Amino acid sequence: MGNEDEVSSCGFRLPDTPVQVDDSNENTYTTMRLAHGKNWKWPNGSTLRIKFLDGTEEQHRRVKKHAAEWLKYAYLGFSYVTSGDADIRISFDPNGGHNSKLGTNSARNQNEKSMNLAMKSWHTDHDSREYILHEFGHALGCIHEQARPDVPIKWNKDAVYKHYAKPPNKWTTKDVDWNVFKKYDADKIITSSYWDSTSIMQYAVPKGLTTDGWWCPWNTELSSADKAFIASMYPSPTVLNLQTVSRPMSKGNMQRIKATGVHTSNVRAGITGLETVADSSAPRRDKLNFTMANWEEDSKIEVEAYPYQDTYMYNVAVSAIDLVHDVDFQSGQQHVACPSSKKPTKVWVEFEKSYKDAPEVITFINSFQLENEWVMKVWPEGITKDGFWLCSQNYDPSNLHSLDAQWISIPARRGAPRTGTFAGTMLNDFKGHVEFKRRFTKPPLLFVALSQLDADSKHFLRFRIVTTKLTEYGFEWEVNSWWDSINAIVGASYLALEPWS
Ligand SMILES: [Zn+2]
Repeated sequence: MGNEDEVSSCGFRLPDTPVQVDDSNENTYTTMRLAHGKNWKWPNGSTLRIKFLDGTEEQHRRVKKHAAEWLKYAYLGFSYVTSGDADIRISFDPNGGHNSKLGTNSARNQNEKSMNLAMKSWHTDHDSREYILHEFGHALGCIHEQARPDVPIKWNKDAVYKHYAKPPNKWTTKDVDWNVFKKYDADKIITSSYWDSTSIMQYAVPKGLTTDGWWCPWNTELSSADKAFIASMYPSPTVLNLQTVSRPMSKGNMQRIKATGVHTSNVRAGITGLETVADSSAPRRDKLNFTMANWEEDSKIEVEAYPYQDTYMYNVAVSAIDLVHDVDFQSGQQHVACPSSKKPTKVWVEFEKSYKDAPEVITFINSFQLENEWVMKVWPEGITKDGFWLCSQNYDPSNLHSLDAQWISIPARRGAPRTGTFAGTMLNDFKGHVEFKRRFTKPPLLFVALSQLDADSKHFLRFRIVTTKLTEYGFEWEVNSWWDSINAIVGASYLALEPWS
């Protein structure tokens, strides 16, 4: 730990000068897990550009090595650059203390450093680790754990002022008030459920500074609560497979499926199974009406499956993907009207934000109104960096009165997505294998959703798309049907994503 005399507040060893944010904005920033600044959070999924303003190769190596620890849990990327603007600018002034601006504040004032690491020649790699972890915690938006409004430390204030007035800190009472006693308003920060004295963002509390004898050492690693908290601040995508429980036939009754296990409301859901039928007593027995929507209440997501008019539904299975507001992912829902002409219908979908290159896009069906035969298909065409054609088609004698499709776009370079389609037919016995264009490092997250159907309307519509044997190379799929149902084609789009951790 180098020279013990140098241990001081924040940052360990040297003053972490009051977190250097414009005073004018003092009210708006906050902590993380330890308390995380609500306004200083980086957009989820961002890759932060980091630049060294000085320092040796060894110092740079240590930063890259230890800062990467946060990325095991936070859904962010670091890109080390040598020119141009940078979100985080690091200097190694040995007399500048360990300090960092909070979160997105770091990106302001490009001509100034946003972080200083006073890495001394006698600091071992292990010594450096704890303050690199701590200062990067600030850079990701975390404030000091002891600055939580609910911190229970019983400070002996006089003793604290005296302690920090000594070298190397030589802090004024104002400095101590800021660095040690400052507490943030609960509404300005997001905190984990309890105060964590083992957090990397908690200062050491030397013996004698509290009225009840409590003390704690410098923490040197991310605590388990730190890891969980930063993962909740920067959550990574998840895929859920959900299904209604078998229930009596419901005509026109919507069924809701709770999507427990998602982190955000940025959820898209597709159909992976249906057991439904047109009302046999209705004037027309071949109408199939179904719609699916996300239902958000108290930030809980539910998928609503709704058969309407003369359609009965037994069960529905859905696959839901939480896109976690990743800045690079875009998604939407598009109504595609289908005129009686059997030519493909094309609707231009423009991305809200253009990509650098044409992204990968998947499309899938989430709402339809079919008559006569039950035939429909959606697919993307002519994908550019600005948008794509969402195409749909059905064939005689089927009438597709309306169709809503969902789409997801993902840059090809990031997160190594692999997208594609597969279709079960009698020719392949409704079974097959998908091999990814490029392999993953481990079995990916797999999202699958209905994109094509050709089924006999004289019987119940029953199908279930099942995937098995998922590996880094590919997966097996199967379309099941049962009883008297007759399917000619059941096809699906898939999106596979490298898992984050
Ligand atoms: Zn600090």
